Amino acid sequence: MKRDYYEVLGVAKSASTDEIKSAYRKLALKYHPDKNPGNKEAEEKFKEINEAYEVLFDTQKKQQYDTFGHDPMGGTPGGGNPFGGQSSYTYSGDFSNMGDIFGDIFGDMFGGSSGKRSGGRASQKRGEDLRYDIDISYLDAMKGVEISVDIPKKEICSICHGSGSKDGSAPKQCSQCKGKGHVKYSQGFFSFSQECPQCKGKGTIISNPCSECRGEGTVKKRKTIKVKIPAGIDEGTSLKVAGSGNAGSNEAPAGDLYVVVHMKSMVGFRRNEDDLYTEISISFPQATMGIEYDVPVIEGYVKVKIPPATQPGTTLRVREQGFPKLGRRNIKGDLYVKINISIPKSMNDTQKRALFEYAKSMGEIPKDAKYQNDNFFKKIFGS
Ligand SMILES: [Zn+2]
Ligand SMILES: [Zn+2]
Repeated sequence: MKRDYYEVLGVAKSASTDEIKSAYRKLALKYHPDKNPGNKEAEEKFKEINEAYEVLFDTQKKQQYDTFGHDPMGGTPGGGNPFGGQSSYTYSGDFSNMGDIFGDIFGDMFGGSSGKRSGGRASQKRGEDLRYDIDISYLDAMKGVEISVDIPKKEICSICHGSGSKDGSAPKQCSQCKGKGHVKYSQGFFSFSQECPQCKGKGTIISNPCSECRGEGTVKKRKTIKVKIPAGIDEGTSLKVAGSGNAGSNEAPAGDLYVVVHMKSMVGFRRNEDDLYTEISISFPQATMGIEYDVPVIEGYVKVKIPPATQPGTTLRVREQGFPKLGRRNIKGDLYVKINISIPKSMNDTQKRALFEYAKSMGEIPKDAKYQNDNFFKKIFGS
């Protein structure tokens, strides 16, 4: 179990950014590996603190965490992932922004420069992950479907092929920060660092920037992405489409796209996990004598044997007529059919007399002849 991020940093949910930063700084100083060499427990704690800080300090991630908790994409437990990756979004192990945090707070105090941590040039930055929400019908969830989503995202600039340079010349190292992307300054005990004003943190300068992307190397475009929705998908499941998020800068990898599935409701049906629920109304004689009934389902009908003497409100279970289990098409949920009894709103004379005879034979109507006239039928049936 992951601990609550607020608990990890020892701050209240209402804590301000400054409070979060200060709590983090205290804890990070205490548990930093350099201060606790060989101490596994401190190392774990340090990782946990960083993870919590990375989320809580980032307004967007914090909001997501406040809403969805540790599972911001709302992945269902055991949902599996048809794309072979993780089924839900997780922040653990994603330290791509660690450098920025350290740069922000500690500068080079612990020798951690962002360039070193991201394992490449200071200007390399993995593209952001994107989220897209879709509504899926019961039928599509039952059979699986391929959909196209149209999303605005950063794509590698087709003019400069991502270099950001008009003439193809390689970007030069920024003279002010010497390619680090940040500049250092000291204040008392701490040495702080700030984004380099000359290169805006990139570490490089493009002397002749591409006019299409203004030197960014990426441009925002609408892109159509095909997404396979596997049969059995349910509310809240997120599908990861690896590499379909925003393009990274300077040949850094692209982020991922998370497609979050929601179920459209369908009149007359209810879904609970892999089981499907519906109701039908049959007549009193059908319920009494039993009948083979064509029960409408998501697509077509399913024949259901309703046994004699079925009572109103009885629920019949029909095996394997529900939704397929996600990732295991040959395992299916069940169909539950609740039986209601309908009472006729009108009857003709023959039917009335037959029903009267039936009631009389059951001893439900007195055998007195004075009831057996047309006035009596008028009274009970209104015609
Ligand atoms: Zn360009
Ligand atoms: Zn610079």
